Amino acid sequence: MTTLALPADRCALVVEMAAIRANWRAVRQSFAGAGVGAVVKQDAYGLGIAEVVPLLAALGCRDFWVADLQEAADVRRAEPSGRIFVLHGLVGGTLRDYQALGAIPVLVDMSEVEALARLAGDAPAACAIHLDTGLNRLGLGLAEVRRLAAEPGLLGRLQVAAYVTHLAHFSDPGARANLWQWRRFSAWTRHLPPAPLSFSASSGVFGPKERHGDLARVGSALYGVETTPSRPQPIVAAATLTAPILRVHRVPAGREVGYSGAYRTRSARRLAQLGIGYGDGVPYRFHGDAHVLIDGHRAPVVSTSAMSLMSVDVTDLPEEALRPGLRAVLFGPGLPVDQIAAAAGVAPNVVHVRAGRSAPRFYLPCPDEPGAGTATAPRPHHAPQMA
Ligand SMILES: *Cc1c(COP(=O)(O)O)cnc(C)c1O
Repeated sequence: MTTLALPADRCALVVEMAAIRANWRAVRQSFAGAGVGAVVKQDAYGLGIAEVVPLLAALGCRDFWVADLQEAADVRRAEPSGRIFVLHGLVGGTLRDYQALGAIPVLVDMSEVEALARLAGDAPAACAIHLDTGLNRLGLGLAEVRRLAAEPGLLGRLQVAAYVTHLAHFSDPGARANLWQWRRFSAWTRHLPPAPLSFSASSGVFGPKERHGDLARVGSALYGVETTPSRPQPIVAAATLTAPILRVHRVPAGREVGYSGAYRTRSARRLAQLGIGYGDGVPYRFHGDAHVLIDGHRAPVVSTSAMSLMSVDVTDLPEEALRPGLRAVLFGPGLPVDQIAAAAGVAPNVVHVRAGRSAPRFYLPCPDEPGAGTATAPRPHHAPQMA
């Protein structure tokens, strides 16, 4: 599937930059509001801020959303202009730290609104304000919004770049709760000084246009991770995780495979040992059926994974599918990350982010449009430092 030289004894996460570009365009086309921002927290969901941010900036992305100030610094290094919104609020540093990076804190409660108003000098301080319309995690509730409306002096010292709220039931596009959160959000913000509304994440930009708001915050969809399985999005997987087959061997019936007898062969099986394990971000334990693809054939995962190994059952695979040098695909186009995640009882992004942050990464640049900010091929992201 790739022309990259991947390590023969290690797993590899291959990032297809053209897929991220296609997803960006699909999101842009669907979103009715003024601007699509990219959520790049957790090193761009494991795909690499240093590589993903320049690509998105070249495609016209102006807003980047991160969790914390360290990530804001990583984005700023990759993209000298553009706005950076910091979702964890104001606690990451001094106001000067935020201003030096051109980072905009998304204030998480009333005490942060008051603190920033106090800190603001002659010029109003830039911020966004998180409103809690139903998730009960971050943001001001109705009582605090009323206070803000009654004390215009507070917001007078702030320059509000956006009001932000986040859906509790994003994965269920038909949930009534989504409609209620939108109604609260639009009603509350009508009492506040005007500023763009940031409502839609990945699920929202493909949802009803009358609820898109002005500024989207899109993560998963850009990387090809589906957030609304009941209403599939027009996106493609950007990351492919593969592992080398280290050994194929026959195991008689009644043998234990792996630690503590986690799996026992009921009949004679043929197993393949893959060079990937939980240390590379794959789940440790599988509750349901999971499989990998070898030359297009499904091979069920057996047992738990170990730190750098996992076993799959290749008994039913044709001989030619097991030729030396072939790699097993754990997720990628044609095998959504949802599959392995569901078998482990976790959200798809749990596997995507962990694998992206743990496995060595390689980049396939966009084939056309040279200079679109893509990396040159193969570039392991934690290669040893070379002088
Ligand atoms: C992570 C996050 C997003 C991105 O959500 P996706 O479903 O991945 O697009 C948007 N907004 C907030 C507040 C987030 O924490």
